[in-house]
Amino acid sequence: MKPSPMHSPDLLTPLEPLTARTYVRVAPELALDKLFDYALPPALAGRVQPGHRLKVPWGRQTTLAYAVEFPDQPQVANCREVIGLAEAEPLLPPVLIKLARWMADYYCCDFNQALRGMLPDAVRAREDGFKQRYWVQAAAADREVTVSELLKNAKTQRRAWEFLLKRGGGWLAELSRECGATPAVWRALADKGLVTVSRERMERDPLAAPLAADTPLTLNAEQQAALALIVSQLDAPRPQPVLLRGVTGSGKTEVYLQALAEALRRGRGGLVLVPEIALTPQTVERFRRRFGAVTRVAVLHSHLSAGERHDQWQLIRGGQARIVIGARSAIFAPLALPGLIVVDEEHEHTYKQEESPHYHARDLAVLRGAFERVPVVLGSATPSLETVYNAQQKKYLAATLSRRVEDLRLPVIHVLDLRREPPADRERPLIAAALRAAVHDRLSRHEQCIIFLNRRGYSTSLSCPQCGHVAECPHCSVPLTYHRATRTVCCHLCDHAAPAPRACPECAFERYQYLGTGTQKIEDAIVSEFTAARVCRMDSDSMRGRHAFQRALDDFRAGRTDILVGTQMIAKGLHFPNVTLVGIVNCDAALQLPDFRAAERVFQQMVQVAGRAGRGDRPGEVFIQSHAPFHPAIQFARHHDVEGFCDQELDYRRAHQYPPFRRAVLVCFRGRSEEKTRFCIETAAKRLRASKALLAIGQEIPDPAPAPIQKIRDRHRFHLFLLTSHPLTLSRVIREQVFSQEWPDDIRVTVDVDAVNML
Ligand code: ADP
Ligand code: ZN
Repeated sequence: MKPSPMHSPDLLTPLEPLTARTYVRVAPELALDKLFDYALPPALAGRVQPGHRLKVPWGRQTTLAYAVEFPDQPQVANCREVIGLAEAEPLLPPVLIKLARWMADYYCCDFNQALRGMLPDAVRAREDGFKQRYWVQAAAADREVTVSELLKNAKTQRRAWEFLLKRGGGWLAELSRECGATPAVWRALADKGLVTVSRERMERDPLAAPLAADTPLTLNAEQQAALALIVSQLDAPRPQPVLLRGVTGSGKTEVYLQALAEALRRGRGGLVLVPEIALTPQTVERFRRRFGAVTRVAVLHSHLSAGERHDQWQLIRGGQARIVIGARSAIFAPLALPGLIVVDEEHEHTYKQEESPHYHARDLAVLRGAFERVPVVLGSATPSLETVYNAQQKKYLAATLSRRVEDLRLPVIHVLDLRREPPADRERPLIAAALRAAVHDRLSRHEQCIIFLNRRGYSTSLSCPQCGHVAECPHCSVPLTYHRATRTVCCHLCDHAAPAPRACPECAFERYQYLGTGTQKIEDAIVSEFTAARVCRMDSDSMRGRHAFQRALDDFRAGRTDILVGTQMIAKGLHFPNVTLVGIVNCDAALQLPDFRAAERVFQQMVQVAGRAGRGDRPGEVFIQSHAPFHPAIQFARHHDVEGFCDQELDYRRAHQYPPFRRAVLVCFRGRSEEKTRFCIETAAKRLRASKALLAIGQEIPDPAPAPIQKIRDRHRFHLFLLTSHPLTLSRVIREQVFSQEWPDDIRVTVDVDAVNML
């Protein structure tokens, strides 16, 4: 079977010219998957452009709607007239409208929804203009007693106060909206002296401090070659995407920076996508230092407040910021003239949106690049198989940085076979003797260590060592996790939490809750083994709140912490020269997950984590603990053999015609009743099987099956897992036969094209 082309060429036709227009087709800001035609009054005819937001009559009221196209003839005979422009300038550049249309067709989502999703709420709401408003801040007070005294019997005020403490401060309107407290609540808090409300306009630029400029580094030969390749595409009439493979610490970012400088020199801008977690001020600072003298650098990510996001967006739209750095949704940044799009760590799964529209920002980047005729750089030490395959097929160009800068060596990787660890005190130790010894050694030399835990996989369960009973969530089909600090059992999917039973509910075994292997237990083991060390735990549980993550990183960088223990959060992108040891304690539980990408994911994670070691002048060492030490993913990682891994994994994917050889589409049905949900998804499968269009392309429709996690929040889940070479046809038929059908009220249907999460 032949792989389907990435983009069909007709998508690349130039945008229509601005001519005299009489009618406009609009997408209303309503939850409707439909476009409507209006007449343009003569006064507006020459002024309305695609992406303008218009005020239009809607029944007896008015609504706002985006101008999408300009038909010669309207769909209905007497269309009504546009009332006026909501804003003088279009909110969306034409390329984003085109992108939304493609998303609707490809990802099987509503066009209107795709369009709306491109604009920050604060921009659409227009409430958060640059005007002066009230700024609320906690009054300096660490008087715990007084606070609880003052807020006794004032539940709403207490909630608002706690919300404010977490946020640090905010605009009155924004805070009120986000935590549901009325302005009166804030006023009451101000009267009690707990908060201050002022009228000053604060600079909402999240990282506005002035920075010293830096100068470009002298590139080594491989970096120069990579830069030259990208620059050649900057000037090409039909630029191709460039895969930049570079081992960890090989200086990929320096190449991006110099390529972006070239784009700026050509009067254009640049868009840089990074996984959320790489958006540490450290990264952003590097861009600001480099470009601060030429342009402002806008930042877009999920930790911004609504107002900050609004301001950053306006800086981009207004052209003051020509460099944009941001997470997934920054692909929709309204940059007028991008010259280069960079996707750093392109293999990262955070680029895939896990709710509708289920887009993949890397793929949209490639598409936006094609629409705007600008090169796209996809950088990674461990590129995704999709991208590797596209490079093999010559759809992408490729450059390689095979060595670390300044001839730093890649770390030596040891694999420790946990099955052969001698048991101590009846149990096998969680940390192997060799890794323990290595950590002690580093501590004595005042070097730092990173210990990586994998939270994915089923390794966090509370199970009875005597009868094997596993405590399961009553609402979800996953094991409960034991939290020792609170002596509770919790579900990580819903909010279920209950006191931990003292004894096993099945066999009454009494040491029940102290056994079971969870990540927390590993953390405990680390703390109790290395008593003299300063240990910082970093994961999504311990890192809530806006600045916690940054503070923890600062402490580690400054040497105030010796061992950083963490999950996915610390796997990539971080650069700490004093880290000479990395321990990966439980990577291979995730190899067991029912997901064709399991091996790829584990491999990438190991290489990325290992890449944190030895980035300074002392060589690094890595220990991987494993129960499956001969698994290919582990063996290839051990030899830093990315190419070898990709070759073998592509063979496996080819044999099963898994992605990248076909597209994976996951249709999920959820409902309260198991029987009803199963019945509905089976009906959907039957409808698809009966489709002539799908018969014509020979589309296989397998039987639906319960999802690997069969129940979440009391909703039963069923999957229909489809592999296809014709994603656009399949999406269209799914829309007709599944989406636009009436299902019982409590049944929820989602369609995930190029699905990444298989659970
Ligand atoms: P990567 O993104 O590939 O992990 P970085 O771009 O972060 O690597 O580079 C790692 C370190 O090497 C950084 O501190 C960077 O300043 C430095 N570096 C990059 N290129 C050069 C170069 N040509 N000469 C000297 N140092 C460099
Ligand atoms: Zn649950």
